Order: sequence, then structure tokens, then C-alpha cells
Amino acid sequence: MRLYTEEALAQHQPISLTSPQIHYLRNVMRAGPGDTVTLFNGRDGEWTAQIDTLSKGSSTLIPQEKRRDQLPEPGPWLLFAPIKRAPLDFLVQKAVELGAAGLQPVFTDHTNSERINLDRLTANVIEAAEQCERLTVPEIRAPEKLAAILENWPADRHLLVCAEHGAAQGIDETLRTAPADGEWAILIGPEGGFAPSELDLLRRLPFASLVSLGPRILRAETAALAALTCWQAVLGDWRNSRS
Ligand code: SAH
Repeated sequence: MRLYTEEALAQHQPISLTSPQIHYLRNVMRAGPGDTVTLFNGRDGEWTAQIDTLSKGSSTLIPQEKRRDQLPEPGPWLLFAPIKRAPLDFLVQKAVELGAAGLQPVFTDHTNSERINLDRLTANVIEAAEQCERLTVPEIRAPEKLAAILENWPADRHLLVCAEHGAAQGIDETLRTAPADGEWAILIGPEGGFAPSELDLLRRLPFASLVSLGPRILRAETAALAALTCWQAVLGDWRNSRS
């Protein structure tokens, strides 16, 4: 049982739970006073905590011991155009598991009218972070148009643009020859693909690199997860051995 809380974590400082968390612990996990839960908040590391009270009206957990110190989790941002509900749920869950540091829905010229439900997205992201033992929950940004995002782009963040057509370097080569410093983001187009004018614009941006994921056209969610995987293997924490 591992839960995310927004409250500060410190020894013996009681933490109260949200109603969905009370429901989860009582009715799904059949937990009760005395049971141990793991807590994290993205700032104070990971703590074991004991359930003190657990009823509909009131519930408190008492943090006992810090199990892990807070560490930075410097993954790339994932920028994606809205897709249908089921593949979107899948995409965000897996992106959290693969270490995306933030999620930015993007409207492009060929984006379908799919709406983004930010509450649902947030719930999915928190659940995935709890499950995969991350110490942070990725930041979720409100949807924005591609042009507006690019206008305000931070110059020191590299942007990997996954381009399904036209000239593009293999993703492996781009990542291997990339400068070692700076942060990253990955941009995936909508099911309708990028408009030629969007690719022209992206091609001219000094912080952007157009990359290929091979000759097959991938679904947006496949492309996003494949690109995140490559990034983790070449530049991220998949390079580190575990002792
Ligand atoms: N409708 C388009 C395909 C869009 S696929 C067409 O038929 O051409 C959705 C997104 O996934 C693309 O915009 C791109 O960002 C990414 N993608 C899919 N296949 C890719 C590939 N082989 N290389 C790089 N990116 C790819």
C-alpha cells in the first residue's frame, strides 16, 4: 500500500487522507488501524506510516520512518496531442512508469476534437506513480496550442520531435550525439500526423531535432513510449546498474 499525499512528511506528524484514499484503504485493501502504509509527496522522500484511525469521517496516518531520501527524477517532458480515452489512459500510465517528468497536452493542426479531462489524467498519473515507486508525481500542464508552446520554449530544453515523414535522423544517433547538458522534451504528433507547415516550423527551431522511429507508422501512444524508452536507455537512468 503506497500513497501520494500533498501534505508535508515528518516523523510523528499526522497525515490526513482524502476520501478516495480512505475508500481504497478500507474497502479495497481491507486495511485498518495498526497497518503500515508507504507515503511520498515529491519533496520529503518516502516514509513508512502507521494507520492510526480509518473511518469515513476521520482518518490519520502517523509517519514513522523515512525509507528513502528525496532524489531528483530528471526525465523528459512528454508533449502529446489528445487521443481517445483508452489509449490516453494507457499512454499516461506508461509514460509515468518510463520516467516522464511532466505531461503537456498539445493542440496541433490535425488534432481531433478529443477533450482532455485533466482530473482523470491527474488521477491516472498519481496512481501510476504510487504503483511504480516513483518519488515524484509528474507535473501535468493545461492543454495549449503547439505554436504558443514553441513561442515560450525555454532555450536550454532540447526538443525531440518524432516525425513520421520527411527527413529525420534516427533517434538513437540523435540521442548519442546530443550535448550532455540541458533538459529534454519529446513531442508526438496526433493520429492525423503533423501538418507540413508544422514540420517546417519545427525544423527551423534551434532547440528541436526531428527524429525517426523507423519506417513503420506507429500509433501515437506507441511512438511516445518508444521514444521515452530510447531516451532512458541512452541518456536516462537505464544506463545505471543497480547494486
Ligand atoms: N496519420 C499519420 C501518422 C501519425 S502517427 C500518417 O498516416 O502518416 C502519430 C505520431 O506518432 C506522429 O505524428 C509522430 O509523432 C509519431 N510517429 C509515428 N510513427 C513514427 C515514426 N516511424 N517515426 C517517428 N515518429 C513517428
